Amino acid sequence: MPVRSNQFTRLDLGAMSGPNTNYDPVEVAVLRPAAVEAAVNDAVAAISAAATLDDLKQVRLAHAGDKAPLSLANREIGALPPAAKADAGARVGRARAVVKSALDEREAQLLIERDSAILVEQAVDVTVPVQRRPVGAQHPLSLLMAHIEDIFLAMGWRIAEGPEIEHEWFNFDALNLPANHPARSMQDTFFIEPADAGVLLRTHTSPIQIREMLKGELPLYIACPGRVFRSDELDATHLPFFHQIEGLAVDRGLTMAHLKGALDHFAAAMFGDGLTTRLRPSFFPFTEPSAEVDLQCFVCRGASVDNPQSFCRTCKSEGWIEWGGAGMVHPNVLRACGIDPDSYSGFAFGMGIERALMFRNGVRDLRDVIEGDMRFSTNFLGGVL
Ligand SMILES: [Zn+2]
Repeated sequence: MPVRSNQFTRLDLGAMSGPNTNYDPVEVAVLRPAAVEAAVNDAVAAISAAATLDDLKQVRLAHAGDKAPLSLANREIGALPPAAKADAGARVGRARAVVKSALDEREAQLLIERDSAILVEQAVDVTVPVQRRPVGAQHPLSLLMAHIEDIFLAMGWRIAEGPEIEHEWFNFDALNLPANHPARSMQDTFFIEPADAGVLLRTHTSPIQIREMLKGELPLYIACPGRVFRSDELDATHLPFFHQIEGLAVDRGLTMAHLKGALDHFAAAMFGDGLTTRLRPSFFPFTEPSAEVDLQCFVCRGASVDNPQSFCRTCKSEGWIEWGGAGMVHPNVLRACGIDPDSYSGFAFGMGIERALMFRNGVRDLRDVIEGDMRFSTNFLGGVL
């Protein structure tokens, strides 16, 4: 049977020192005080010499790792006779503690050095001039639309949207505009080529109402904001495209009184408490009866009428401002959407957003609205709307 070398050494040592009753631990070379002290000195020297945290990692492995001289010495203690264990254990334990605290101290020192080096390397000179980018601003039309949408959401209505490229059936036929209606002409409507395909840029947001009614979910209370297109020349008061907000309610038993109530609430929420609206008889193909909607002047509230001393620029001292159109949904429109006009009635209204922006916020020239000049948009920051 082969004999392992350490067994052989121990046996040999035993033979040299006679009966093994008073075994002297100094006989194990690595446990001798001088050897332990030398190991500590080596370790401390290496630790002080470590210039970086990476170096120190290597030093820690070499002098405190599993194969470090003191770790190997520590392993020998277990095999000593009980009387010798305490002495050797204390010696090696003290030595290892010295190495450990030297390692910890050096590590703390190196961490501080590294951190201060980083602070110096990454220092930011706050005095260096920078090129600032302008932050930009939401367009006043977007702000006003969001404000209007909030008013209807608070009333429990839903916001509905639809495509800007529409089929003429949704834009005209379903809305009770006969085939020969002048609004269908090329002078008013942008058709997409080929012209006989019946595809166009929607001229109002009403086709959204048709699409929503066709879904057949009643009752229906929706607000429909969106961009619409008409072949107008661009000037201070006309645009070839603009934005509208339309409202539609379809339910059992709705009357003009409900329409008036909704408009008055909308007016008060948008222009000021207590403001009201006025309806004047009008005609639209898709509503019957139809009305023009006037808004009580929110600046003078009528006080400037017949009062030459206090001319009101907003209403030109008329006391009312033209706001939009409204009416009860024409039975033909309900029928086109599969709704029985004997069971349901509906009211609808529509306004231009640009127009509201002009009289509400004193915008004089519509070209400012579409040119995208930041100086125009930033004017509306800070809650002007
Ligand atoms: Zn006025």
